[in-house]
Amino acid sequence: MAVLLLADTLEPLNVISDRRLVLLLSKDKVAFLSSADEEEGRLAVAQRRLPDQVLIVRLLRHVRPIRRSLHPNRRNLLLRDQHTCQYCGCTALPRELTIDHVVPLSAGGSSTWENLVVACKRCNGKKANQLVEQAGMKLLRKPREPRTDQGSILFLRYPELRVAFDAFCRVA
Ligand SMILES: [Zn+2]
Repeated sequence: MAVLLLADTLEPLNVISDRRLVLLLSKDKVAFLSSADEEEGRLAVAQRRLPDQVLIVRLLRHVRPIRRSLHPNRRNLLLRDQHTCQYCGCTALPRELTIDHVVPLSAGGSSTWENLVVACKRCNGKKANQLVEQAGMKLLRKPREPRTDQGSILFLRYPELRVAFDAFCRVA
């Protein structure tokens, strides 16, 4: 997972496999953004291996970016909250983390981005079926729906691509 595909407008579109990169290159549908990337890309393709660093390619033709919405499922919540308990701030392995309804279902809370947070087992046990204030606890930050443009979704899943993209934006 080392090739980031940008639209002709430079908006992040997708992460593509090396196979797809070869296909797009052979059809002249994409271009590398720098000669260093181009060299590494061509070398990796010739040697049938994944590129050593994140490569960024740009589509040469305009496509309309797809807008998707994200469901507040466990996997996406763990990504949004970066595996961090939103009460005590500890980070833990997924199996040590639970999903907490800020306003409990029994108190009319809903299963939405704004009412779900990652909590460690200890904090979830302490809060139990109470409101945050009742439990004498505090949220680190107000839970929100993440931005759902393609780039934000991609970077949530592949943080290393954000680093490469940000570095590219600083130069460009
Ligand atoms: Zn905690």
